[in-house]
Amino acid sequence: MPTHATIEVPSFGEVKVPTGLFINNEWVESQSGETFSTVNPATGKPFLDFAHASKEDVDAAVKSSRKAFKTTWGDNVTAVERGALLDKLADLLERDAAKIGALESLNSGKGVRIAREFDVGDSIATLRYYAGLADKLHGQTLNHYAKEKFVYTIHQPIGVCGQIIPWNYPLQMWAWKVGPALAAGCTVVMKPSELTPLTALVMCDLAKEAGIPAGVINTLPGLGATTGDAISRHPDIDKIAFTGSVATGRRISVAAAESNLKKVTLELGGKSPSLVFDSADVEEAASWIAMGIWFNSGQDCCASSRVYVQEGIYDKFIAALKSRAEACKIGQPSDEATSFGPLISETQRDKVLNYIESGKQEGASIITGGRKWPESNGGYWVEPTILADTHIGMKCVQEEIFGPVIVTSKFKTEEEAVELANNTIYGLAASIFSNDARQQTRLAASIDAGTIWLNQYGILHPGVPFGGFKHSGIGRELGTYGMEAYQQVKAVHQNLTQTM
Ligand code: NAD
Repeated sequence: MPTHATIEVPSFGEVKVPTGLFINNEWVESQSGETFSTVNPATGKPFLDFAHASKEDVDAAVKSSRKAFKTTWGDNVTAVERGALLDKLADLLERDAAKIGALESLNSGKGVRIAREFDVGDSIATLRYYAGLADKLHGQTLNHYAKEKFVYTIHQPIGVCGQIIPWNYPLQMWAWKVGPALAAGCTVVMKPSELTPLTALVMCDLAKEAGIPAGVINTLPGLGATTGDAISRHPDIDKIAFTGSVATGRRISVAAAESNLKKVTLELGGKSPSLVFDSADVEEAASWIAMGIWFNSGQDCCASSRVYVQEGIYDKFIAALKSRAEACKIGQPSDEATSFGPLISETQRDKVLNYIESGKQEGASIITGGRKWPESNGGYWVEPTILADTHIGMKCVQEEIFGPVIVTSKFKTEEEAVELANNTIYGLAASIFSNDARQQTRLAASIDAGTIWLNQYGILHPGVPFGGFKHSGIGRELGTYGMEAYQQVKAVHQNLTQTM
């Protein structure tokens, strides 16, 4: 299979894109010759075929990454030099933002303006943040324990890192993984999702153009059970970083433990609650929560997928949320006005529809939505949906739907609200809408989640850590914590005398 294909991209015409494996800064075919196909989520029609990386290809990529780590990257370059290369990569992504945004939109189904301004924009910001941080996380001097001893710590890169990313934010997850890894001095064997491999591959050409040495970023499109598993089990990979489902996170942890006890960080799912109190501004709360659930058509690990509303304002809040659901700009990904595109696949669309059906069976009522978008024409849209009268025992309340469905119910007291909020296996994010500052502070402390938003929703920044409590993950991405996850600390004890 050729390593490149030419496709028609709206507003760009014909564009030649990579479809092969990127190993040691070269495009190659899979050693097995196998390929896999992707589908355009907006049409349900075939999109592109990609090379499927085999176990042997994973071996070749790991060898290349190990060699780079020992010779041209890691401690062989200064942190300042690594930062400069990441900055150059951010410049190139900025130069190509319109084209890469259009490719991301085509492969994932998100609206082209959102892909360009949000997905590409945040990826540039993340690369720049880690370019700046590269030379700033260093060791300590600890010479206060004994007069004649001197102790210092050094931060060293962990080594070769496997990175496995999902399909909901293909480019952004790439930047969240590659930025801190490269800044820390690690090399990378990246596996993008088999549903959305395109932009991760396009970034390889930019990395090479930026001057990042061969082997620092190897990229292997492939399926989870084959390529992903071979990465998780590889004995010469030192760390694995994963974003995706809890079930896959668990499998990866087991594979990592059974092979070489490689270090693992996991960013998994969520069922994030919003609590809206009587004192809140109802219209403001509805706008934030609507964005929190319907952004990216609900395919978001920290989506505001449950809302609990104090009984005094419940009806008013539901009416405000309904009006926002009905105002979502549903449309074709290539339309600049579209903010609500199709779901990623037929499987995902059917999974979401099944959750809606199970909610109905268990007694929930539909305030709006609940169906395929009537103009889907083979694409995988599900309408923005509100399920009311739900209770904590329902499947649609406990499990991650990963689609545009929000479940709602009422509460009376703050204690009851906290109880409801904490009543799932997840703990990724939560929001509190209240005009009582003491109440906000109490709740921020008592809700089990890695991110708490007060009177807002969904705001993330490359400098602010993100990750989960409970089943929502292990470790943190972004911020200084995100880069520390790619470093190991060495303590050096020096004796300044000749006595023992
Ligand atoms: P998934 O977790 O199976 O896939 C994510 C990534 O893991 C992909 O690159 C996939 O190829 C890889 N993978 C799958 N099996 C693997 C294995 N055994 N070893 C190593 N890598 C493996 O997610 P999915 O099947 O695409 O979606 C299923 C559900 O996961 C969704 O409905 C949603 O609930 C959740 N999800 C969560 C996120 C998130 O950001 N937390 C992202 C995508 C999906």
